[in-house]
Order: sequence, then C-alpha cells, then structure tokens
Amino acid sequence: MTAGLPPRMRVRVHNNKTDKYEIKELSMELHHLTPRHQGGSDDAINLAEVSPFVHEIIDPSRHNGFILDSVINGLATF
Ligand SMILES: [Zn+2]
Repeated sequence: MTAGLPPRMRVRVHNNKTDKYEIKELSMELHHLTPRHQGGSDDAINLAEVSPFVHEIIDPSRHNGFILDSVINGLATF
C-alpha cells in the first residue's frame, strides 16, 4: 500500500444501467467475514481484502452495477 491508499486497478467494464462500456479505476475493498449485522467486528481478523468483482460474488448485499470486461492495469503494475 502506498501512502495509506488501497491497491488500485484500471479496468474496462460493462455498465448494466447504461448498457455501455466504460473505463473505471477501482480500489481493493474490505469484506467482513462475519457480517456486522451478525455481530462481526472491524478488527483485522474479521476482514478480507478482495476486488470489487470478488466482493460481489461472495457478498449477497454487494451490487456493483457493472461487469468486468477486461483489466487494463492490474494491481501488480498500476
Ligand atoms: Zn462484504
């Protein structure tokens, strides 16, 4: 992590609402392994760093509104 900022990626996505492709810069996100509404804490032991795309798959409350088309700059090169 540089200067306290989360790792980022530049991707091309299909926007479900506009039905168009667009370029987005996205950050990694933190997912609560035990959801907060079930008593899960914000402690590091209860958090997993995931991409927005993985987050949408594992978290039923997460809806991005777009689908990944391609990665322009991944985490290792951005
Ligand atoms: Zn989550």
